[in-house]
Amino acid sequence: MALARACCTHRSALNAAHAVRRLSLSAKLGKEHFKLLIIGGGTAGAATSNKFGPYLGAAKVAVIEPSEMHYYQAGWTMVGGGMYDFEVTQRPEASVLNNKCIWIKDKVGQFSPEKNTVVTESGREIEYDFLVIAAGLQLRYDMIKGLPEAFETPGVCSNYHRDYVKKTFPALQRISEGNAIFTFPNTPVKCAGAPQKICYLSDAYLRK
Ligand SMILES: Cc1cc2nc3c(=O)[nH]c(=O)nc-3n(C[C@H](O)[C@H](O)[C@H](O)COP(=O)(O)OP(=O)(O)OC[C@H]3O[C@@H](n4cnc5c(N)ncnc54)[C@H](O)[C@@H]3O)c2cc1C
Repeated sequence: MALARACCTHRSALNAAHAVRRLSLSAKLGKEHFKLLIIGGGTAGAATSNKFGPYLGAAKVAVIEPSEMHYYQAGWTMVGGGMYDFEVTQRPEASVLNNKCIWIKDKVGQFSPEKNTVVTESGREIEYDFLVIAAGLQLRYDMIKGLPEAFETPGVCSNYHRDYVKKTFPALQRISEGNAIFTFPNTPVKCAGAPQKICYLSDAYLRK
């Protein structure tokens, strides 16, 4: 309990520190410059900020990430298999970035590598010495005909999405008989093991 309280206090302090930095940064006019600019605050971006933030020092590293929340996507297989609550897989973005880094809550819209700059969707031009692009994969359910609409019906789920993963375990619980078919995609996916893991978890659940 004491540990949990200490973590919460530490996290609020981190949030406040990031908020102050965001404010002072947005007050600046003209081009902003960072030694290291990281695009995306997911697993790779957050890890890179924690590696280089302490090494390069305060305000030398910036992370551009639009999402208020960070998701531990590897845990979504366990959510789908009924072993984790979804809530344990999300945390405020500010709590996972290194506190020496600047968090820019925005999205990159344009890269200009010949000028060492990026432009965000809100129009901020940001210059860097070194750039790490860690924007992850895009989920393109829209490229599968009928799938976006199908997600509105029970039983159609996807462990790769923060909303649709919540539908997987209820769907599994509704199975009372029949055959289950598990397939493996031949396209790039976020985790090659994930289709297998949900197969084994479903098997374990159904046998139980
Ligand atoms: C169901 C599932 C199970 C998995 N299981 C495992 C496992 O067991 N083991 C394992 O090692 N891995 C696993 N993974 C894979 C792992 O989660 C990913 O490899 C990892 O999240 C990739 O990290 P990333 O930072 O490259 O991308 P992400 O974590 O997707 O982060 C990308 C970030 O970039 C941001 N972004 C996107 N576009 C822009 C832009 N234009 N400007 C600024 N920011 C932008 C996004 O908002 C996002 O926060 C699993 C993934 C899933 C979905």
